[in-house]
Amino acid sequence: MSGISKQTKVIALVMMLIIAAAIMITVFSGNARQKEGRLRVVASFYPVYSAVSRVTQGVQGVEVINLTPSQTGCLHDYQLVPDDVIALTNADALVINGLGMESTFEDSINLNPDIKVLDTSVGASLLPGGHSLSAHHDDHEHENQFNEHIWTSPSNYIIQVKNIKDFMVKIDPEHADKYNNNANIYISEIEDIKNELINTARILPTKNCIIFHESLSYFAKEMGFNLVAALSLGEQSYLSANQLADAALAAQKSDKVLLLYDMQHDAKYSNVADGASYARVLKLDTAIVGKADGTNAWINAMRYNLMQLKEAAN
Ligand SMILES: [Zn+2]
Repeated sequence: MSGISKQTKVIALVMMLIIAAAIMITVFSGNARQKEGRLRVVASFYPVYSAVSRVTQGVQGVEVINLTPSQTGCLHDYQLVPDDVIALTNADALVINGLGMESTFEDSINLNPDIKVLDTSVGASLLPGGHSLSAHHDDHEHENQFNEHIWTSPSNYIIQVKNIKDFMVKIDPEHADKYNNNANIYISEIEDIKNELINTARILPTKNCIIFHESLSYFAKEMGFNLVAALSLGEQSYLSANQLADAALAAQKSDKVLLLYDMQHDAKYSNVADGASYARVLKLDTAIVGKADGTNAWINAMRYNLMQLKEAAN
């Protein structure tokens, strides 16, 4: 055991030295690079990046950087690499999801005392957090007071977009009109897709649903679905026999049930609904990963979800 922890310490020390060296190199060579953008805004991960890209679209001199690769997904276990730390130390502003999503890199944010930070979750209506133990294959367990996946609710996402707009107006007042205009256009697009989703959800044969990942809780709530069971499927984990038995019982009692998966996961537990007379699998896009250019990622994800709902309604 002590051998392992010694090794871990050595690795941590080496990492710190690499990061320190990288920062030194940036400090001495970074001035020229910093001039590329008048204002460097770093977004912590994909859904936030998508929103910041839309609000700042076409504003001259604003450089938007996605801190984490577009295929990263949630940041629950994410550790920053030296390049990420450099991006943070060079940034004027950082936009985060909040609610603990970025908790693993708080120390790195503090390395840049001048950075302005926006927590986009302020004002969102929140659901309680569960432990996402099954989403993790190491020995620690995350227990957040609130579910962090707020952007899967269009109403909450609108609040996040408004927060970003207010923040940009504050740090770059010269371009306030542009930010306001961008945000208004984007919010009306979000409202449109939200209404279409809710109207389609209304004509489904049932409102009862089982979700297979907590990222879908907010989406399900906004659709007016009735959660009969909430399971938490991770990439390298499986659900326990007890969890599946409880879900099967809930499905049987409901008689008609929707099975909501995050499309990142295999829909391999459809048999929990064997006792129901109607069951439909919906594989939903939570806009958590996508192409490097995330400008329309959220809207496209919700359009895809609308198609899924429409198919289930027929
Ligand atoms: Zn997550």
